[in-house]
Amino acid sequence: MNNATIAELTAGYQMGNYTRFPVAFLRGEGARLFDADGREYLDFLGGIAVALLGHAHPGVTRAIADQAASLVHVSNLFHVPVQSEVARLLSLATIGGKVFFCNSGTEANEAAIKLARKWSSDRGRTDAYEIVAIDGSFHGRTYGSLSATGQPKFHEGFGPMVPGFRAIPFGDIESLDAALNDKTCAFLVEPMQGEIGVRMHPPGYLETAAGLCRDRGILLIADEIQTGMGRTGEMLASKRFGIIPDIVTLAKGIANGLPLGAVVARDEVAVSFSPGSHGSTFGGNPVCCSAARVVLETITAPGFLDEVKRKGDRLADGLRAIAGRRSDIVSVRGMGLMIGVEMSVETKPIANRALEHGFIVNACSGNVLRLLPPLNVTDAEIDRALSLLEAAMPEERRS
Ligand SMILES: *Cc1c(COP(=O)(O)O)cnc(C)c1O
Repeated sequence: MNNATIAELTAGYQMGNYTRFPVAFLRGEGARLFDADGREYLDFLGGIAVALLGHAHPGVTRAIADQAASLVHVSNLFHVPVQSEVARLLSLATIGGKVFFCNSGTEANEAAIKLARKWSSDRGRTDAYEIVAIDGSFHGRTYGSLSATGQPKFHEGFGPMVPGFRAIPFGDIESLDAALNDKTCAFLVEPMQGEIGVRMHPPGYLETAAGLCRDRGILLIADEIQTGMGRTGEMLASKRFGIIPDIVTLAKGIANGLPLGAVVARDEVAVSFSPGSHGSTFGGNPVCCSAARVVLETITAPGFLDEVKRKGDRLADGLRAIAGRRSDIVSVRGMGLMIGVEMSVETKPIANRALEHGFIVNACSGNVLRLLPPLNVTDAEIDRALSLLEAAMPEERRS
């Protein structure tokens, strides 16, 4: 089987809901991938922020294999040793409080939405059920998270949406101020908007928003599914922006590629998930948790996150140097190893050309390139990525 025959097989039997590159990967190693035609790639997408410690990380691989050989699944009717340990590590590394495990990002947001409404209801405020979210956000594809998602293109054809969600314009604190009223139970926000192309809130926005929530007894939910787990150089991007959410949702890189999602809520909120109120058959599965334990131990080791910051700066500086040589780069934005390059031209052709040259980068929102390398990417890989990316950009006539 080569790339072409695998692509044909995909098209023959799978629904057409994905737009796929004509490439099939057989194996990976760190920031490198190898396809079915024997070609090597440098991967700065990481399965969309999932391969946090790179592909086939030896520690993660060993943990998965050992756990799979002893016990793959029990049930949350029982205690699960590695799950208990991962919850402890997650709580300590984020906001304290208690953890609920699920299997994906959208499920983490569903759980957070349910938890916020239940918390409101438990306090006798049954009419305070509204969730406020921002235009351009992405919170997932199931109905609650989809209803919260502030991009109409994802809603199209799937209506009606779940009631009780309110969208406000991006970057506008006055709209937020007006939207947070006595019908609101929570404000749901990505510290940086990922899917739409690494969009940053205006300086001070998140701190002011957190203050408004605190003053009005409204829960602040940070969707850190993409920005969390050390991606920005801190365990949570919230920390980098000086806010402490009441609820945090995590997924993507948390188990370095195995399906795991988590909700962390401060104790007073977490109690609203009382016995039987919410659950998941697979959530917190021992194999996924064994991978997550290695991830957490690795990124909380002394000095690791400082290195993420340093490498993020190296990558951003390199991109700004490229921008200085060109006229079509509008801005380089982001934090740590989550970076967006906004251009005045379409970026899809650039991502396609980069792929042909052996470099994997994501084009989003039409004119943005999104870079999400593994957190343990090397300086040499960053430098190579910069030259591959620049080579994939269209030739400019010098004036
Ligand atoms: C990817 C993502 C989700 C959805 O996660 P899935 O695991 O695909 O359900 C939600 N929120 C953010 C910010 C994301 O980046």
